Amino acid sequence: MSDNSVFPGDKIASIEEYEAGNNTFDDGDMVRAAAVGEKNMDKETRVVDINHPKLLSVPKVGDVIIGTVAAVMSSMIAVTIDYINGNPTTSKVECICGTRNMRIRNVALVNDIASLKIVAHLNGTIHAVMNEPDLGIMFTKCRKCVGKVVSKSSDAIKCTDCGWIDERKLSSNFGKSNFVKLRE
Ligand SMILES: [Zn+2]
Repeated sequence: MSDNSVFPGDKIASIEEYEAGNNTFDDGDMVRAAAVGEKNMDKETRVVDINHPKLLSVPKVGDVIIGTVAAVMSSMIAVTIDYINGNPTTSKVECICGTRNMRIRNVALVNDIASLKIVAHLNGTIHAVMNEPDLGIMFTKCRKCVGKVVSKSSDAIKCTDCGWIDERKLSSNFGKSNFVKLRE
């Protein structure tokens, strides 16, 4: 965080000097921050803005993320990142995870919750893997009837409604109740 970092409620300037811009409000006396971010005080327009710290929300190599599967392709999945090392993020950054070598037909479904480890940033794309026991799918549903599923092994699930058995690369944290609650 730099000297320009502000937290919600922080006083930034007198309303006689500056007008409230993006992510700020004026309390009748002072312009205050309405969001976490970096303040940007424009001396010409006399407007102060708070810029959201997007960079703070980009995971680094080695970080573990939890996200929502946004797309499933033949050789990879795209995941929208919701948590970085357990901290929520709202910046909606996506990472991709190759699935070609997994020998599992339905590694994940769209809207599944997955835990991944970031391994590289390449050409603007964030690459992740799920090849450790605690990585993989943490929440999923039945592909046939969208019913509730239980794990049968580390790579198989069974629907409690229709009995359909399917493959997934499950995390050892699959079915942990706090993440199920996140989705309901
Ligand atoms: Zn089912």
